This record gives sequence, structure tokens and C-alpha cells, in this order.
Amino acid sequence: MKRRDFIINSVLTLGGSAILTTGCSDKKIIKTQGQVAKRKFKNLDIPLLGFGCMRLPMDGSKVDMAELDRMTEYAMNHGANYFDTAYMYVDGLSEIAIGKVLKKYSREDFILADKSPIYKMNSRSDVRKIFDEQRKKCQVDYFDFYMCHNINQNTVDQYKQVKMVEELDKLKQEGKIKYLGFSFHGTPEILKDVVDDYKWDFAQLQINYLDWDVVNAHEQYNIVQNLNIPVTVMEPLRGGGLVNLSEKAMAKLKENYPDETTAQFGLRWAASQNNVITVLSGMSNLKQMKENIATFENFTPMSPEEIKVADEIAKIIQSQGEINCTACKYCMEVCPRGINIPAIFALYNQYKVTKSAFHLKLYYETLSDSEKADKCIKCGLCNKNCPQNLPIPELLSQVQKEYEKAR
Ligand code: SF4
Ligand code: SF4
Repeated sequence: MKRRDFIINSVLTLGGSAILTTGCSDKKIIKTQGQVAKRKFKNLDIPLLGFGCMRLPMDGSKVDMAELDRMTEYAMNHGANYFDTAYMYVDGLSEIAIGKVLKKYSREDFILADKSPIYKMNSRSDVRKIFDEQRKKCQVDYFDFYMCHNINQNTVDQYKQVKMVEELDKLKQEGKIKYLGFSFHGTPEILKDVVDDYKWDFAQLQINYLDWDVVNAHEQYNIVQNLNIPVTVMEPLRGGGLVNLSEKAMAKLKENYPDETTAQFGLRWAASQNNVITVLSGMSNLKQMKENIATFENFTPMSPEEIKVADEIAKIIQSQGEINCTACKYCMEVCPRGINIPAIFALYNQYKVTKSAFHLKLYYETLSDSEKADKCIKCGLCNKNCPQNLPIPELLSQVQKEYEKAR
């Protein structure tokens, strides 16, 4: 899909709701006064903002249930009724906490998404056993959305060996799963294989304006879109990396859109992709929730000009890191080992800024083993192609050493 496809073609008004049609006429945005914008998915209206339950409000080592209750009530009152949890979120406490706060609402009034932890599966029977455990923890009879969690190069074999899809399909036939999907952190090659495994209802991908070109998010998005698989978005703000922009990147945003916050900008970018049905934000307090809901109550898809500014900010972020790689990919044209040099450098730059375990993990989970820095044979062919004159093999060694030290 071309970014200019975001152009709004028409605005229709039906009763209290306005329907905005983006470049693809089948993906309408439904707007209702005082409610977050929604998109159609099968027979549901899905809020474009989903509550990602991996960074819940905490009180020491416990979930702050009073704050979570306030957040849930505020979300429900504003039509943001999509909740996304997982087995290991908040050290296993997320499912229990969200189950408790949702108990006071009618089951048909909220949409609950959960995920099957591939790493816990030793046999097919484990799939059902853990599913039942999750239903109990969440206090529900069924999940609306359910995913094979975190398919990547390290988990894909296990996911296939335990016949996860076959067992989950049985649960779907039994009415315990309404829509079956997967969340993904691997390479496009693995994604192409996984999408062939089943007639998936949806896919959860890491989509944001920085990963779009740097870490093959665009390619992943196209793979699922070509099969008409709707997308739920995780990490739209790249683990907070797109909230805390560098001075130069922030200046670019403010020079063009002084009233837009970094969070608004990143969330709107992700939701403007017209195959996206919800953008998950891991909110930790009521203040964040109010801000995000306000963004989606007044949601308008990004204009081509805004998309251009996002591209420019992404370039600034890429170029301002410790390694001044512009992601031109010229080096990759000659590398005999297929090292993903620009992606390695972009991930490293993010890690240098945040020093977060999240960005360290991203390196190990996003790239395939053959693309990583330690596979460089120091032939030096890439150096000749680099317009920035970067000493690529030396930098790759430096990156590798730092990652190994931090791991
Ligand atoms: S030096 Fe390393 S990264 Fe550069 S072309 Fe050779 S193998 Fe590829
Ligand atoms: S050629 Fe140089 S600037 Fe271009 S992607 Fe490779 S390392 Fe980065």
C-alpha cells in the first residue's frame, strides 16, 4: 500500500456517526461523538485504540487495582472496549487483574484478546491446558481474539511441532475462541510461511513509523495485507522510543505540528494504516489513558504531509544515533553473508538512546541469526559501497561486543 493511500476520499454522515473512508474503501472509520473512532472487523466495531495490558499501573509488586478499575471504566465509557493481555504480562498478573476489573461488565460489552505462550508448550495437550488456565484467570468462557504468541525464528519450530494451530482451531470450533490470530516478531521469510499455516482472522505486528522501513515492518504489513488479514498493532511507539524523541527529531515535529504530542503523532501514524483494526497502547495510568482516548475521539487519518514529516523524523532518529547510517542499504547489495547492516545499526542506535532491555531484546528477536553482526566475515566489500564512509566491519564488531556484554 502506498502512503498516499491515506488520503481521505470522502466524509459521510449517518445519524450521530461520521464514516471516513480512507484510500481503501473497504476500511471505513466510524466516528461517534464522545467515543473513540472504530473500524469494522467482521460483525464487530473495533476501537482504534486498544488497551495493551503489559504495563499496568503498579503498587510495588502488585497491580494497582483501584487505578486499573478507574482506567477500565474510563475506557469502557468512551468505547475503548478492546483489552489485550498475555500469559506472561506483568509476571503473570495481567490476566488475573484484567479478569477482575472486567467482571462487572457484561461479557458481550468488552472484547478480550489473550495469547498462547509458545515457549510453555511441550505437547499439543499443553495448548488446551494453558488455554483453560487462562480462561479461569480471566474469568471468561471464551476469548474474542486469541493468538499464538510471539512467533519468531526461535519459536516457530516449537509452534509447529506441538500442532498449536490444529488445537486452537478445535477450540475455535467449540466456540471458546471467536477469532484466531498470531503475534509476530520474526523475519518476512518466516511470516510468509506462517500465513500459509491457517486461514487466520488477524495478525498482530509491530508497526510504527520508525520500524516501517528500517526493520521490515512495511514488508510484513504488505505480506498480511495481500492476504486480506487485518492487523492489530503492537509497539506503535516502539517501547516509548517514539515518545522521548531527541532534540533534533522533536524540533522537526514541533516546527510542523506544534500542538501535536509525540504520542499522538506515533499513534495516529499507526492507526492511519487502513488495514489496521486496533492500535494497542500499554497505558500505565489514567492520565495516559485520557490523553490517548482524546487522540482517538478526534481521530483523523494522517495527511500525506504528516506522513512525510514522520518519514523525516524517522530519518533524523536513524541518523542521530551513535552510528551515522542513513539506511540506504547500498552495503547490503554487496554483502556475501546477507548481514542486515542498516537494521543492526538502527536497533543499536535506539538501544544507545534508551539503554532499555526492550531494545536489547529487539535485536535478538527481530533479526534472523544469519543477519546478525557476528556473522560478518570482515571481507570489507560493504565499505566500498557506503556513502557515509562507515567502517562497517569494525562497527559490527563493536555492536556485537556491546550487546553480548549487556545481555
Ligand atoms: S565485511 Fe561483513 S558486513 Fe561487510 S560485506 Fe563483508 S561480510 Fe558483509
Ligand atoms: S551503505 Fe552505509 S549508510 Fe548505507 S545502509 Fe549501509 S552502512 Fe548504512
